[in-house]
Amino acid sequence: MNQVCEKLAKCPIFQKGILFNEFTGETYKMLYCLRPDRYKTCKRYQASVICNCAIPEMIMPNSSLTLEEIVERAKAEVDK
Ligand code: SF4
Repeated sequence: MNQVCEKLAKCPIFQKGILFNEFTGETYKMLYCLRPDRYKTCKRYQASVICNCAIPEMIMPNSSLTLEEIVERAKAEVDK
């Protein structure tokens, strides 16, 4: 099992300008990305495993959307 999420280096939500502020990003990392027992509960991670495609950057780890809804949006982005 990985110690941190393998998507962390390229995860688009941590690219400049996506998150409201840096503190929000650090909080997500502490709650999900850097925790071996938690990163697989991230909605972004789970959706990407299902669809094997890029997840829209507005989807956060604790998104209230269902995985089905996230995958639908991700596929709609791909089809654009
Ligand atoms: S936000 Fe989710 S998918 Fe992105 S690096 Fe963190 S745990 Fe992985």
